[in-house]
Amino acid sequence: MQATTLWMFLWVLAFPALAAPLTARQTAPPGPPARATLANEPAAATQDFRFSPTIAEIRQVATMIPGDRALRINVLKFAESRRSKKFSVKGAPDEPSVQARTVFQVVYRDGTVMIDSGMDEQIHKFFGRGVAEPYDQAAAAEVARAVRAAKSIVVTHEHGDHVAGVIRTPFINDIAPKTVLTRAQVRTLETDPQMPEIKLTEEMARHYLVIDYEKYYPFAPGFVLIKAPGHTPGSQMIYVALQSGREYLFIGDTAWHMDGVRTVTGKAAPWITEDEPALAAQLRWLNGLFTTEKNLSIVVSHDDEQRQEYVAKGLLGGRLE
Ligand SMILES: [Zn+2]
Repeated sequence: MQATTLWMFLWVLAFPALAAPLTARQTAPPGPPARATLANEPAAATQDFRFSPTIAEIRQVATMIPGDRALRINVLKFAESRRSKKFSVKGAPDEPSVQARTVFQVVYRDGTVMIDSGMDEQIHKFFGRGVAEPYDQAAAAEVARAVRAAKSIVVTHEHGDHVAGVIRTPFINDIAPKTVLTRAQVRTLETDPQMPEIKLTEEMARHYLVIDYEKYYPFAPGFVLIKAPGHTPGSQMIYVALQSGREYLFIGDTAWHMDGVRTVTGKAAPWITEDEPALAAQLRWLNGLFTTEKNLSIVVSHDDEQRQEYVAKGLLGGRLE
């Protein structure tokens, strides 16, 4: 036995837990670094290097901010786009489908957090491309009221139907400082906004609370931001666990209809540009969660059938508080 081998032998006796990764590192084959696999992870969730969060890590991050978790979550639809389903899910039949324009309100004992902020009617008209589509003035006013009353606002991504409510508002001085945007979202809004009306100047951007993070961000008790660039560079998913233990994952526009998650199928909308490999990895990951995590409700921003189903089941409240 050589001196170094003897030394390692003694080391292992003294610190077996430390020695294990050392040995693994020495014997690991060349290639991409191995990823730690947790026993309760669906395989699809851990094997794709393009999108590698795990539900175990997300749940752990959700514990990082002490305090009572949210009590309930509400949804409100304030407008609709009428589009053939074939655009939302590639290969779906060419049949009428409603894309709901929605916001979500996470209700804590002592205040609310808004997920997405709605949009005014002018931005809504942009999405209609000359066709007048339903815009519910009363519901939109409710959204504006809830955004103003919220403790904070986060957005799933920087498209007009999700972010305009915190940019094109007469109450910008109150709302901007409590709106949390990511650096990637601000970058798009400054340099490549979806429409000129939501462009931010550097000076405007300074009024928002801008954050940056690598993978996860613990936002509030039971509330985690998950970086998910793909639909847009600034896209993120939002995990919320309630005081009751129920869990939700808001996936923004990663899919436009839950069928996209169920069948791991992307969109076929020629007017948008997405990072398709990233989206494909996210859909595979979401499908793994959908299959294995029965306590977790995946929430698709624009799926009107899912919205009605979740409200009917009591998973989401159907009005804002
Ligand atoms: Zn959208």
